[in-house]
Amino acid sequence: MKIQQIKKITGKIKIETGLHIGASTDALEIGGMDNPIIKDPMTSLPYIPGSSLKGKMRSLMEWKLGKISINGSLCSCGAEDCPICRVFGAGISREKDQDAKRRGPTRLIVRDASLSQEFIDKADLIIEEKSENSINRVTAEANPRPLERVAPGVTFDLEIVYRVLDTGDGGAKDEELFKTTVIESLKLLQNDYLGGGGSRGNGKISFIDLKDEVGTPISFS
Ligand SMILES: [Zn+2]
Repeated sequence: MKIQQIKKITGKIKIETGLHIGASTDALEIGGMDNPIIKDPMTSLPYIPGSSLKGKMRSLMEWKLGKISINGSLCSCGAEDCPICRVFGAGISREKDQDAKRRGPTRLIVRDASLSQEFIDKADLIIEEKSENSINRVTAEANPRPLERVAPGVTFDLEIVYRVLDTGDGGAKDEELFKTTVIESLKLLQNDYLGGGGSRGNGKISFIDLKDEVGTPISFS
């Protein structure tokens, strides 16, 4: 088994409707927002964790391929030819992962998406507070809950790395999975949402200016 090629996808993630990727509120300040978004602790700027992007791409693909188990857990079949386990990694412990050697390493790496350069100086304009009402079903009283969101129009820089491994087929299987699983899951994500509150209209995104490692545009058609 050897690495045949390193593919790369770069481009921008554009926020179409306010994005809420929640931060832990363990260290909640008194009088602070109780639904804050995740921010880089060094710069206090919002970012999109690679794990959030990858996790959402994976779960949309699992739904599409019917790989969601009854308890909703990740695909952990570990099979050498399972698109999910091969591309995103098998959700099983090393000892139980008998196919790990034949399957090879996880092909997909999704980097944290940081705020695009042109928004860095506008930090105070890119975060909005939205009041969402939760209705008490008994008293029918509305209970406004402020929710912090990244404002529409803001963009983040996307970087995805994909390793094509030659498993005796010249890399053909991984080449195929790049199209049917990686590109397809980005397309599914664009039609879905990222972060919290998607069914209430949050988190619609679009990918813009996607390019491969040599600068060729990538389209979803
Ligand atoms: Zn699997």
